[in-house]
Amino acid sequence: MTESSVLSGRAFAKEVRRNLADEIAGIGGRPPGLAVIIVADDPASRVYVSMKEKACGKVGIDSTVVRLEETVSQAELLRVIDRLNTDPLIDGILCQLPLPGHISAAIVASAILPEKDVDGFHPENVGRLWRGEDGLFPCTPVGIIALMKHSGISMDGADAVIVGRSNIVGKPMAALLLRENATVSVAHSHTFDLEGLCRRADILIAAVGRPRFIKREFVKPGATVIDVGISRTDDGLAGDVDFDNVADISGAITPVPGGVGPLTIAFLLSNTVKAWKNSGVVS
Ligand code: NDP
Repeated sequence: MTESSVLSGRAFAKEVRRNLADEIAGIGGRPPGLAVIIVADDPASRVYVSMKEKACGKVGIDSTVVRLEETVSQAELLRVIDRLNTDPLIDGILCQLPLPGHISAAIVASAILPEKDVDGFHPENVGRLWRGEDGLFPCTPVGIIALMKHSGISMDGADAVIVGRSNIVGKPMAALLLRENATVSVAHSHTFDLEGLCRRADILIAAVGRPRFIKREFVKPGATVIDVGISRTDDGLAGDVDFDNVADISGAITPVPGGVGPLTIAFLLSNTVKAWKNSGVVS
């Protein structure tokens, strides 16, 4: 790639959803089932859950939303998960984050059956990811890898720098890039010389949650820049990358909105279809 291009996650996600709809219709029989658990009434979570429901409906996935009060005990939530684990019509289960303080996200992640764990947070799926085995892996990093492949961006041998080391984005992103034979560095809030490290990257992935944190000086000319961040600011949604001052020196860049965001939902649907196909219901 010689000149900068804006990678449309939105357009690619649409294609992924269309392919999933065709695949589900082609296989027929019982449709895939996704259960989304939402605890408390957080407005942002409500928006995400309704987007997930709508997206499921469009491709032919049956979605069920289980709404629980903020005061629900962890034991009761685990009982709900248990019921969904044994429900033959449910292929995928996810529990929308964040959870109230009295509930452990780690215990919840471990309670969901690994084969229904469409968020890819269960320790078994995390282990499978790092061991290079098949499994269900976190939707945002899976979507980013698929977008780069689709866009013809070569990862083999590339210097990849991820800023952020969360279990949801940074760490699984590192594992997936290693699988693609990239040379991976993971930066975080203790990293010395972040700018110098980022400037070496052929592929720079920002998952920090700080608006316009990645400046022009951080970016090697021609690099692929993937912006995972979503922050609400007075001017609307902002990514982690100072897009206006970075786009022209990058080789390729994702915008916010319309970049990584739509991929996350598309690959949640993709994980649900994968779990459905693995469930034995599809011959
Ligand atoms: P976390 O808050 O869990 O992680 C943020 C990471 O950024 C941490 O590892 C932290 O380091 C690092 N960090 C913070 N400040 C600095 C700094 N000054 N220098 C270097 N590293 C720093 O966030 P998430 O990974 O969950 O999410 C990141 C962003 O991505 C958020 O804006 C979130 O909304 C967005 N997001 C978007 C998705 C999408 O679909 N587009 C999906 C998931 C997330 P340390 O570990 O040392 O604290």
